[in-house]
Amino acid sequence: MRNGKTFIESLRDGREVWLNGERVADVTQHPHLRPSIESTARLYDLQFEASHRDVLVTASAETGGEIGRTFQIPRTREDLAARRAATKLWMEQSFGFMGRAPDFLNTAVMTMKTKSHFFARQSKERQDAVEAYYIHAAQNDIFLTHALNDPLPNKLKARHAQEDKGVILQGVEETSRGLIVSGAKVVATAAAYANEAIVYNMPNNLVAGDEHHALCACIPMDAPGLKVLCRASFAHPGREDDYPLSSRFDEMDSVLVFDRVMIPWERVFLYKDVSLINAMYATCRMRDMTAHQTAVRLQVKLELLYALMVKITRMLGTEDSPQVSQSLGEAAAYIETIRGAILASEAEAQVDPDNAMIYPDYSTVLVPRILGPRIYGEFVQKLRRLAGSALMQAPASLADFDGGAGPSMSRYLTGTGVSAREKIKLLRLAWDICGTEFGSRHVLYEMFYAGDPDALMGRMHKDYPRKDEHLQMFDRFVGA
Ligand SMILES: Cc1cc2nc3c(=O)[nH]c(=O)nc-3n(C[C@H](O)[C@H](O)[C@H](O)COP(=O)(O)OP(=O)(O)OC[C@H]3O[C@@H](n4cnc5c(N)ncnc54)[C@H](O)[C@@H]3O)c2cc1C
Repeated sequence: MRNGKTFIESLRDGREVWLNGERVADVTQHPHLRPSIESTARLYDLQFEASHRDVLVTASAETGGEIGRTFQIPRTREDLAARRAATKLWMEQSFGFMGRAPDFLNTAVMTMKTKSHFFARQSKERQDAVEAYYIHAAQNDIFLTHALNDPLPNKLKARHAQEDKGVILQGVEETSRGLIVSGAKVVATAAAYANEAIVYNMPNNLVAGDEHHALCACIPMDAPGLKVLCRASFAHPGREDDYPLSSRFDEMDSVLVFDRVMIPWERVFLYKDVSLINAMYATCRMRDMTAHQTAVRLQVKLELLYALMVKITRMLGTEDSPQVSQSLGEAAAYIETIRGAILASEAEAQVDPDNAMIYPDYSTVLVPRILGPRIYGEFVQKLRRLAGSALMQAPASLADFDGGAGPSMSRYLTGTGVSAREKIKLLRLAWDICGTEFGSRHVLYEMFYAGDPDALMGRMHKDYPRKDEHLQMFDRFVGA
């Protein structure tokens, strides 16, 4: 098990990270990366706090030692509830704004391990690689990023039919030690300060001819030839009072560029088999489990927004007006829909005889993923609607209260039951959610983090297991 200090030390490895046009000498010292690194380190430190240890740490039959809870293979409904508690505790540290915290990919690696026999369809070596990787990741408490998408210059063309095929990650040479890969993958959140990246393809995305792009593998972030190209930073380091979220939780998104990177065969899980890579995500039931993590994350995030809206409307004296309480009641109902879906997915969880692992009920655990893109945007819109022009009365900084305009601000910006300073503090938080670049990124994140939301809804319809049940009831009624 690792703590925050050893996590931070693990990032001083000579990795090649580019931000603002410059190569970052040491990510742990970079003012725009350091805050999210410290926020992630805090999660690892919690594993050593006596009051949280039982929630976050468990004994493992697989490694023979202690592992993080989200690496645990769930066998019972109680295990799923314990997993939920661990994710909730971690998510509460960033109020759900660091969605790609380690628990997300701990879960993915664990699900792959429990279906390792799927990888045996390619070869026994690939199966062994998946098994060994799980032990490596769980034992060393590895923080993973992932990148599934390809930078397709033309989205309507297959990978092998692109004008410049070289931009898409692919195997370029097979050696006795491993596979050499070149090309890029998009988007990898937290790559600048993760330990390793797992790459694979979006399900059912590849076609015959794409064989060299069909790849599932893990690569350490300091691998020679691997570059991390960061987007613009949305962080405001050192300004916690004025940007309470973006100053601490701007998990950086990046493009990964591979220039003849060597991946040892022990870290290659699938290669060159289009039908296997297309089937991997569904057959390994990865969505069933990662959707549980993302649902809990969404719930925590919505709870913060709801509480903030209640506080702001109280402060404006509008909370009890019919239209405001109606809007807040609707927000509460959305939260309960998400919470209820998570609990129902656990209550109706079933053990898969194939691997003796218990999975949350698929249809109910998908509800937050399906509704999230819509609900999150609505919450942000509600926040704007309920706060109105008060958002435009907040000065640039809370420190302005200590300057020449301080007395006027204290006199004229008060709210119901709160001082002007307290009111502005709330409004700065609201602006970080609904007005800043950071806030805007989160609306985009909720829309797309799990893939194209329209495609996801289509998938829900296609896979909906209770469809026949409803159709049969319909047929009984109309006598078909
Ligand atoms: C903030 C953020 C963080 C992310 N972090 C990660 C991460 O850590 N790891 C990771 O793997 N991914 C990550 N993603 C990427 C995510 O996986 C993708 O956004 C998602 O898969 C959707 O792909 P896309 O963004 O290219 O959009 P698309 O799926 O291309 O959709 C964009 C639009 O194009 C339309 N479109 C696309 N293809 C077609 C077509 N063939 N015909 C007609 N219309 C089409 C869609 O309907 C949609 O309106 C992140 C995304 C965001 C926004």
